Amino acid sequence: MAKIVFLGTGGWISSIERNESALLIETQGSNYLLDAGEATFKQIQKAKINFRKIKAIFVTHSHGDHVLGIPSVVLYRTFLTRHEIKIIYPNKIEKDIRNLMRYITTELTKNVRLCSFYAKEKETNAYEDKNVKISCIKSKHTSFSVAYKIVLKKERKTIVYSGDTSPTENLVKFGKNSDILIHEASLCNKYENFSFKVGHSTVNQAISEGLKCNVSMLVLVHLGKQKIKKRKFKVKNMTVFIPNDLETLYLK
Ligand SMILES: [Zn+2]
Ligand SMILES: [Zn+2]
Repeated sequence: MAKIVFLGTGGWISSIERNESALLIETQGSNYLLDAGEATFKQIQKAKINFRKIKAIFVTHSHGDHVLGIPSVVLYRTFLTRHEIKIIYPNKIEKDIRNLMRYITTELTKNVRLCSFYAKEKETNAYEDKNVKISCIKSKHTSFSVAYKIVLKKERKTIVYSGDTSPTENLVKFGKNSDILIHEASLCNKYENFSFKVGHSTVNQAISEGLKCNVSMLVLVHLGKQKIKKRKFKVKNMTVFIPNDLETLYLK
């Protein structure tokens, strides 16, 4: 059964229980990592995920809370197996990713393939194999950032991951009628106007994006320090789920 493992549900400014951004999708025995903030390596170990099965790491943008974990994940993965691992990212952050990888330039990392794609406002293909088809659009953040759409071919499920963003029509169009929207909710609701300045969203803004996308489930991640009273509730027909770190969502 396909599943999503929430390795890190926080951002830079989060409560102590939340690690920096990372989530992993497992389908048909293959793992795909989306973002890898600091200490993702440890989170993967804690979740007992097989490093050998990580085929690719998808990067939304080059802020540290999304990329600083990449070197150690890649290094350990290449130590375990000679099978290629891909790092996939928008071409605008090519320099940042190459700089980051310079810290682990060893004999081991020759099986790491850096793959950039040309991201724009319109939906663009980023990756495809026999299990998944992944596309992206530009989101609305303080640095160049994308949101990803992951279509699980066998399960016929569509998951959209916002990365860091303020509410944007572009993402609503992109995520329309998906099954699951994983949306960031960095800020408390009182910061509704401020959110656009800092390229993030409040909890209510994320809920409103979920409703506009007509998804059956909205998952809130990249949480700040806000107190969460209920971790699962309904808004109209949509289930809102706020995972803890290392929690798994099974896709039936
Ligand atoms: Zn972030
Ligand atoms: Zn960011």
